[in-house]
Amino acid sequence: MKFATFMLQGREAVGVLSTDEQLIYPLAGIGDMIGLISSYGGESMDALPKEQPVPLEEVRLMAPIPHPPHDLICVGMNYLEHALESARFKGIKFKKTPNPLYFSKRVGRCTATGDEIPAYPHLTKQLDYEVELAVVIGKRCRDVTPQEAMDYVFGYTILNDVSSRDVQGSHGGQYYFSKSLEGFAPMGPWIVTADEIGLSPQLGVRSRVNGELRQNGNTKEFLYDIPFLISQLSSGFVLEPGDIIATGTPSGVGMGFHPPKFLSPGDVVECEIEGIGKLVNTVR
Ligand code: MG
Repeated sequence: MKFATFMLQGREAVGVLSTDEQLIYPLAGIGDMIGLISSYGGESMDALPKEQPVPLEEVRLMAPIPHPPHDLICVGMNYLEHALESARFKGIKFKKTPNPLYFSKRVGRCTATGDEIPAYPHLTKQLDYEVELAVVIGKRCRDVTPQEAMDYVFGYTILNDVSSRDVQGSHGGQYYFSKSLEGFAPMGPWIVTADEIGLSPQLGVRSRVNGELRQNGNTKEFLYDIPFLISQLSSGFVLEPGDIIATGTPSGVGMGFHPPKFLSPGDVVECEIEGIGKLVNTVR
């Protein structure tokens, strides 16, 4: 099933999409997506408390989790080709390590599909895009094995891990500030439940800028897979309903081209993942 957050008569509502994605049924008695995630027990579409449907094209979608409960957990260098392009840009050598590179991305408010990405011309000349499969945690989880991990995944959505490469480079190589500028977390268009995708997904992950195909990877290329990530993270802290793990981006980001193809105001960035949908944003 696909669950979305949207504006309904001036208030934030959560709804379920019809299978043909033409209609959205608001869910009665559910305050927000975290409330749905916390209370959902795998009910079928028929068993959900649905209100009268609204045509999807008439509603304004928001990010499925507009205010994540914590900073986003991000994985760096989870596709070999991207790790190599990134190392080339930085003039270093990439070597796969037994453990992934984790970092966090501060998010006040996630950007919805259709909304704009701010360009921050006073801060950055190297604005970049990264399409990523984002795992949405469904249940409180601590010390789980990779085999148990599936029970704790609510579903998946798409994240654009917008990044400023020059801010990254001019602040000691850190990621936090360069990826946490306000508006740098477009997410959506909705969450697809885990039963439709599974825990070892093989999904095409693509991005386009102004219609030009830039990234074209597949989640089967992960260097560190989702069960491993959940198990390892949960060995160190509690994961909670609505927590998000962004699983890294394939090659073809702006810094990977010669010369680099960074984003400019007016550019339209389309992030697409097979089985989920498209997240589309314009640079302001
Ligand atoms: Mg990333």
